[in-house]
Amino acid sequence: MVREIATIGLGANLGDPVDQIERAVEAIDSLPLCEVCAVSGLYANPPIGPQDQPDYINAVAEIETALAPEALLRALKGLERAAGRSYTRHWGERMLDLDILAFGDRQITSPGLTVPHPEIAHRHFVLAPWLEIRPDARLPDGAPLAGWLEAVADHPLRFLRAMHWQRRRDESSPTGGARPRATDPTNSRTNPTRRST
Ligand code: AMP
Repeated sequence: MVREIATIGLGANLGDPVDQIERAVEAIDSLPLCEVCAVSGLYANPPIGPQDQPDYINAVAEIETALAPEALLRALKGLERAAGRSYTRHWGERMLDLDILAFGDRQITSPGLTVPHPEIAHRHFVLAPWLEIRPDARLPDGAPLAGWLEAVADHPLRFLRAMHWQRRRDESSPTGGARPRATDPTNSRTNPTRRST
């Protein structure tokens, strides 16, 4: 069975966002044909869109999966619903948001799914955690993510802490089996503001 690497963006700003993100990683790891292989730390940042909402907690996770992209999206939407997400307003507050940022080298444009996610280049809260776990990350067209971070480096983004998460197994895998560990990055390339608590 072919397993591919998919990268998932996680976000939440209602309830207990840190807890919801950490539970979501466990839930993704429990999905059929999915295994989490790397997670970033937890980052806090002010909302984009409506400003009268709480700050967000964001993170990025890398998984190995044998699901098709559409099936993975359906499964992630199911986890959002299970976490109590309901639609509020465009770019509005949410219990849990799960986006497929990338799926192997695939480029998908269908009515319900665009991969790579079209907003990656503009989202500091995606770029910084993704580069934390995968400093050489590139999109299928070869564009290095690191090249975009400078342009969004003035956005406030605060590294909170490493995620509480333990990889299920360490044997050989497409990512080499090593779990990139989230530490408080002191590298301005992966953490533009270098502020930690
Ligand atoms: P969201 O507001 O992030 O929950 O996304 C709203 C809709 O965007 C979803 O119902 C998806 O059908 C669609 N969508 C398109 N591309 C993606 C993607 N790469 N990841 C997640 N959702 C996507």
